[in-house]
Amino acid sequence: MNLEPDIVEVLSSPERALIVSIPVKMDNGETKVFTGYRVQHNTSRGPAKGGIRYHPGVCLDEVKSLAFWMSIKNGVVGVPFGGGKGGITCNPKETSPGELERLTRGYAASIAKFVGPDQDIPAPDVGTNAQIMGWFADEYYKIAGKCVPGVITAKPLGVGGSRGRGTATGRGAFFATLEAARTFDVPLKGTRVSIQGYGNVAQPIARYLYELGCKIVAVSDSVGGAYNPEGMHPIKLAEFKNKTRSVKAFPGSEEINTVDPITVDCDILIPAALENQITEKNADDVKARLIVEEANGPTTPEADKILYEKGVVVVPDVLANAGGVTVSYFEWVQNRMGYYWSDEEVDERLNQAMTKAFKDVYQTAKQYQIDTSFAIQPQQKDMRTAAFVTAVRKIVDAMQALGRI
Ligand code: NAD
Repeated sequence: MNLEPDIVEVLSSPERALIVSIPVKMDNGETKVFTGYRVQHNTSRGPAKGGIRYHPGVCLDEVKSLAFWMSIKNGVVGVPFGGGKGGITCNPKETSPGELERLTRGYAASIAKFVGPDQDIPAPDVGTNAQIMGWFADEYYKIAGKCVPGVITAKPLGVGGSRGRGTATGRGAFFATLEAARTFDVPLKGTRVSIQGYGNVAQPIARYLYELGCKIVAVSDSVGGAYNPEGMHPIKLAEFKNKTRSVKAFPGSEEINTVDPITVDCDILIPAALENQITEKNADDVKARLIVEEANGPTTPEADKILYEKGVVVVPDVLANAGGVTVSYFEWVQNRMGYYWSDEEVDERLNQAMTKAFKDVYQTAKQYQIDTSFAIQPQQKDMRTAAFVTAVRKIVDAMQALGRI
């Protein structure tokens, strides 16, 4: 992009990084102090937007990186937001609902001055959910002295949540898959799909692809995996997992391990679990032609290069899983209008947004000829670099328009 070093310098640091200490009365009567963070990376394109993570590994560097990633994702999909992210170093699995509520309210009170519908709008991430969004909103309303539902998204439906938010990431990834299949000539009827992870984002896309005629040949979760070259029914898989807590030993399937879906024989691979799953150790064994990254950061940079050289098309996470933040944007818009859309309206707008984002990224790949340096297949494009170029260009344009650089 020939970016000036000054611009790179500005983009390398977040605009604001907040660290707060949150004293919480625990169920045993003791007071424990938790550390929370909120980082706003860049607000040139609009208020900061990004989730809140509750996890023992949360630290300032992680939150800063995730906030930068959100600037990119919001730019790729074209929602009028900058990048933000928050988190609390805690283990929600070992925290009672009462403790979680007090922790969330304490966090909301500590960062209330720095968030708001025109400043910074949080949402869920790993370890947080709609209930936590509800508590956060309520605490903010008390401080603001009024109802401001646009302060946070992915709220429960009854308090201003949007229709379609629960399945938005999977639905968005599905639309991106359709566009990728059209663009790169991957047929979908009878196509074999392998999915690593079978949670919030994986289950909807499995269902949508199955309904289109794809075969779900492999799935896994943190316990184990199931493989059946004849295909497995996504809803029965979900029911089985609900009952037994894993897809492992799904009737009629062969047992595989948690990471095997990455390398089984398939046409489309969907990593939908964790970061760093496709590495230099297994990238060469990937059989899929198309990878759709529903998880954040599932492919290491070393693996990315191997996949590119093998001619595998990767729809990168900042594009593939942007459906979540897109419907969060719709929720914010609906909250500000006080007028709510139907399932069909949300779905249609999500389809348009994801299809346009895919086409913009593909166009950028062609325009910048990103593939010329190491292309194996001349028609193939490096969609990850193109996604970053697409977003950074929008952010830089906004910074220039505001005279910030
Ligand atoms: P989830 O907890 O609902 O599901 C994660 C799934 O991965 C579970 O089935 C879990 O058992 C499985 N898993 C965990 N460790 C595994 C391992 N080692 N091997 C195989 N499977 C493993 O979480 P989710 O909300 O579906 O998120 C999954 C990924 O998608 C994360 O990277 C998340 O950051 C990303 N993402 C989620 C959203 C969203 O809206 N939920 C939006 C964007 C990105």
